[in-house]
Amino acid sequence: MLFFSAASFSSFSGGPNICPRCNKTVYFAEKVSSLGKNWHRPCLRCERCSKTLAPGSHAEHDGQPYCHKPCYAVLFGPKGNTVPGRGNVSS
Ligand SMILES: [Zn+2]
Ligand SMILES: [Zn+2]
Repeated sequence: MLFFSAASFSSFSGGPNICPRCNKTVYFAEKVSSLGKNWHRPCLRCERCSKTLAPGSHAEHDGQPYCHKPCYAVLFGPKGNTVPGRGNVSS
């Protein structure tokens, strides 16, 4: 039970509610939780196209939120249109 001190518990539940996008305090009324962090609702946006994202239904890379399509697929999906394995043969 070494790690269940009151201090660590309170910091877990209270948390420093700093928005990872703008580094400002996130208040309860405007908070959305995604990727294990608290964001301002308008700050949870795709890194690439700035589309507002719904918490829990977006992609993530390196701690940054992305929309599934097209951005995540374009940036981190399978490269180009070649299918691994067979689709590489151009006759
Ligand atoms: Zn923010
Ligand atoms: Zn996007």
